[in-house]
Amino acid sequence: MTTRSTPPPATAPEADLAEAVARRRNFAIISHPDAGKTTLTEKLLLYGGAIQQAGAVKAKGEQRKVTSDWMELEKQRGISITSTVLQFDYSGSTINLLDTPGHQDFSEDTYRTLAAADNAVMLEDAAKGLEPQTRKLFEVCRMRSIPIFTFINKMDRPGRDPLELLDEIEQELGLACWPVNWPIGSGDRFRGVIDRRSRQVILFLRAERGRQSEERVLQIDEAASSGLVEPELLAAALEELELLDGAGSDLDLEAVHRGELSPVFFGSAMTNFGVRPFLDAFLELAQRPIPRQSSTGLVDPLQSGFSGFVFKLQANMDPRHRDRVAFVRVCSGRFEKDMTVQHARTGKSIRLSRPQKLFGQDREVVEDAYPGDVIGLNNPGMFAIGDTLYLGPRVEYEGIPCFSPEIFAWLRNPNPSAFKSFRKGVNELREEGAVQILYDTDQSKRDPILAAVGQLQLEVVQYRLEHEYGVQTRLEPLGFSVARWVSGGWPALEAVGRIFNCKTVRDAWDRPVLLFKNDWNLNQLHEDHPDLGLSSVAPVVS
Ligand code: GDP
Repeated sequence: MTTRSTPPPATAPEADLAEAVARRRNFAIISHPDAGKTTLTEKLLLYGGAIQQAGAVKAKGEQRKVTSDWMELEKQRGISITSTVLQFDYSGSTINLLDTPGHQDFSEDTYRTLAAADNAVMLEDAAKGLEPQTRKLFEVCRMRSIPIFTFINKMDRPGRDPLELLDEIEQELGLACWPVNWPIGSGDRFRGVIDRRSRQVILFLRAERGRQSEERVLQIDEAASSGLVEPELLAAALEELELLDGAGSDLDLEAVHRGELSPVFFGSAMTNFGVRPFLDAFLELAQRPIPRQSSTGLVDPLQSGFSGFVFKLQANMDPRHRDRVAFVRVCSGRFEKDMTVQHARTGKSIRLSRPQKLFGQDREVVEDAYPGDVIGLNNPGMFAIGDTLYLGPRVEYEGIPCFSPEIFAWLRNPNPSAFKSFRKGVNELREEGAVQILYDTDQSKRDPILAAVGQLQLEVVQYRLEHEYGVQTRLEPLGFSVARWVSGGWPALEAVGRIFNCKTVRDAWDRPVLLFKNDWNLNQLHEDHPDLGLSSVAPVVS
């Protein structure tokens, strides 16, 4: 008699993983201060039922009773340094919104967060169009070719012509646009949008005081006879839509996922007009957690072995513990609490015993996490930006580059007896990625030059040197605003000979970096030496 082995049961863990990946969408919002990022975030969270009341995103932080010095700095400046990773469920999807620090707290972390995002939502103020910070963040998204969804906000206020706004994105960013919906009216007469694919009219009805605004979804002829929208506004919107359809092709989802075509939406976050249609279409069109490049090729998120990388380190978030948190983007497999993983850079095994999930400033211990999620790990100094953690066959993800600094200052240590602590502090803060460090090529000038993308980074370094290393320091600003790494290193630079209107310095890996006062001087160098390869992003150190 032959015994027939029972077929293997449908492997539950694999099915779980596939299901978890299929439902996950992860994104970051890129925008210029005041475009409405906080307002949009609050409205999105309302749909997820994650908060009860708009305003909670900011209020939460303010209500917390905090005592740590670190939090003091936040309070003094009235800003939030702590990172926010917001996870919420909506309509069968699990959404991870990676908050990119903005405003005065703009720093290299803002860029690094984009390294962990699978999609970006580019938020524009309809009256202003493209603004400087949005352009910079867009460039980082472009480096990674991630899909970009555009939300044109503040349609309830007088704004620029929608066609002109799209033209600006196409011309200036070289990003093709595909409006998923089209506005009916604007300013006081912003009545709703027409969904381009279904041709349904979505009308927004202003709320009575204290109530949620309402939405009515109608066919075109129903809308025309509803009395809810002026016929001339509807006709004008339809006409523009005809023009768009006449000029363009269908929505090419592959082009969206390659980061070449941006689906565009119109709305008003403040009045909650157009947020639901945006969220629904975003979930349909956005990229799921995708395979990620590593030293051994692409790693599939469905691969059973857990892997992830550190994209951000944060000091002393929790007032009760003067700890550091390493933020890890999960890339493959299922992460479980108490897992022992390999640390690719050092080859050590590490047990991850207190992983945390973060919601705004609240933290809870996580039991598990899936590709697309972000977890916070306590980091007693063992993690660095870009580190890979994995289980199973060795993988190492591509590092995160150093982004082009724009603010430079000598860091002086007036107290020679504190030199050791000063040097230790500077090195540790650099390793942690708090700031970039450059040195003069003249060896006699040993003080480091701090190089940052935001002023806050300099303040944080000074603050931490004083409070964690006991060293008081002085900053002397340097009048440069542009840095470029030289592609061929020192030999390439020497071959060019003397360069004017530029200071040559070296980075922590002894690579030449050129500092310029402005773009004009940089362009001059390009013209004088077109063959000299320059990069605004530091090569990744492997
Ligand atoms: P952030 O700096 O990008 O986070 O912008 P906020 O969400 O804090 O918004 C900046 C200002 O714009 C606030 O006064 C908001 O109330 C306002 N705002 C945001 N969205 C809209 C909108 O859709 N319409 C109008 N009229 N104002 C808005």
